[in-house]
Amino acid sequence: MRYIDPHIHMVSRTTDDYRRMAKAGCVAISEPAFWAGFDRSSVDGFRDYFRHLTEFEAKRAATYGIQHFTWICINAKEAENVELAREVIKIIPEFLDNPSVLGIGEIGLNKNTPNEVTVFREQVELALEYDELILIHTPHLEDKYQGTRMILDILSEYPKINPERVCIDHVEEHTIKLALDAGYWVGMTLYPVSKCTPARAADMIERYGTERIMVNSAADWGPSDPLAVPEFILEMRRRGHKEEDIARVVYENPIKFFSGSRRWKPSPALSANLEV
Ligand SMILES: [Zn+2]
Repeated sequence: MRYIDPHIHMVSRTTDDYRRMAKAGCVAISEPAFWAGFDRSSVDGFRDYFRHLTEFEAKRAATYGIQHFTWICINAKEAENVELAREVIKIIPEFLDNPSVLGIGEIGLNKNTPNEVTVFREQVELALEYDELILIHTPHLEDKYQGTRMILDILSEYPKINPERVCIDHVEEHTIKLALDAGYWVGMTLYPVSKCTPARAADMIERYGTERIMVNSAADWGPSDPLAVPEFILEMRRRGHKEEDIARVVYENPIKFFSGSRRWKPSPALSANLEV
């Protein structure tokens, strides 16, 4: 089955991963800007990273017939240095004309600190100013419920926000309903050690349906599986779900969400069976 991984950090993965993903049916991915495992020391470090995302990765993915999309931002883990974060926010518009950029992301909260909130708000405002889609990282484990609550409260202060143009990512059983009820898209992240397993994601689909829900691997340089979305497909099949319902979650829904970007331009291969 053709699928899209709407959240994966390919700068941290090998070319062999691209090949294996393509063989498993991957036709497109989207790669949010994130933390490199260490804090970058200057705005130029971010500029080079954004060039990596918008120039190099698209070519590497295309070798395997995978269309590469990306998101630009400064992530929550590097938001404590507000001065540097503001310098980075200033250069983001340089990249918003790039055809592979879908919007601002993954912004959000990590430890739910005041500085993270400041940098999160300023990037939400940037997204609204430029009419961009927004992809939001929610904190892990014990900080998740509180962080998700804080994020939704902050977003509700902006009447200009259209929830259909925002995805709340890394939702779990205790946060998915909050985001769906408020009208947002949600992403379920399939991780081998934390976040959600394919079985837990399938449970949530059975409970909440397939509207405005996507699944992703969020694979990066840590323990993670770039083939997590195919694992979810297998789990759904094992449970007897219809192919069309599975395809809605792993293919049609990402396309529906991405198509809110004014730069969204799927390749002919990607748009051939577009039924959204
Ligand atoms: Zn991520």
